[in-house]
Amino acid sequence: MQFKDIVGQEVLANRLTEIIDSGRVSHAQMFLGPTSSGSLALAVAYAQYLNCENRQHYPEGSPLRADSCGQCPSCRKYAELMHTDLHLVFPSATTATVTSKPCSEDFQEEFRQFMADTRQRGTEDEWYAALGFDNKQGMIRERDADNIVRTLGLKAYEGGYKVLIVWMAERMNLDCANKLLKTLEEPAEKTLLLLVAESRDRMLQTILSRVQQTVVPDLGADLTPERRAAMAEMFVSWMRLLFKLNMQQLSGWVDQTASLGREQQKQFLLYAQESLRACFLQTAAGYRMEDELVFGDEKFDISFPAMITPNNVEQMMKAMNDALYALERNANSKITFMQLSFTLSKMIKNR
Ligand SMILES: [Zn+2]
Repeated sequence: MQFKDIVGQEVLANRLTEIIDSGRVSHAQMFLGPTSSGSLALAVAYAQYLNCENRQHYPEGSPLRADSCGQCPSCRKYAELMHTDLHLVFPSATTATVTSKPCSEDFQEEFRQFMADTRQRGTEDEWYAALGFDNKQGMIRERDADNIVRTLGLKAYEGGYKVLIVWMAERMNLDCANKLLKTLEEPAEKTLLLLVAESRDRMLQTILSRVQQTVVPDLGADLTPERRAAMAEMFVSWMRLLFKLNMQQLSGWVDQTASLGREQQKQFLLYAQESLRACFLQTAAGYRMEDELVFGDEKFDISFPAMITPNNVEQMMKAMNDALYALERNANSKITFMQLSFTLSKMIKNR
């Protein structure tokens, strides 16, 4: 899996490749978001990039700053999910052939096939249907944990990173989770444990506190044209207020935004990120903004994109990601949007 094949997640992909390039890879991470939005695919692309022998970097202004090469021996094995240093763990249940103590080891081939068939975006229900679990709830059990601990304790075969991806990590039962705590704290050298989960609420606090968390935005949420127009209007007034920094007007805007439902607040931030990216591409790379991303305010449409430059675009995206993450954790919306406004205001002025 290469980042270029995960449409719509370029912003996050760029953050991830930057972290790897800078050598700041933390050994235990969690990608949080619906599989349909690419959380599992991103985990695989991340591991593939980490182990790629010939990482590609693209000119400034390209949608992706970097990607794995797709050609080197490591990438080719990753494409087939057959790399000896890539291990997959996922929920399982008993079937007609596996009648007791099921674990991921028993379904490796089926899972690889499932990942290929669904382009790594299949849902938990689809996985159960593919295996014929007959309405049984899949789980990740103690036996899986034993395998994880043993696997991560071994040296990598091929000299790169040994990677273990746990899909639907919220399905780990208590025994399994408890067995992993020590591994999360005392990793072997050059190992990466990537947990992919859809719900933070169902994860044990003891696990959450030991992993670095990355929120994968849900791009599947459909937008009606009316909702898009309303968000465009909100975005235009917000950006104008960031220039003026009229406190009274800004706090009016913040109050109004904070009065929306939390999901709508997050959707607005995703829209804002998408808009910034489109503005940046238009200025830096000469892409024309897609019609649905034009804001419908002629003066703004002409003047605003130039404010988003290579100097501030990544920082602004990251500030919005941090705010998204705060909203996910039920932070106070007013404070979150107010702080974000101050941060963005500085970044826009320092373009
Ligand atoms: Zn490669």
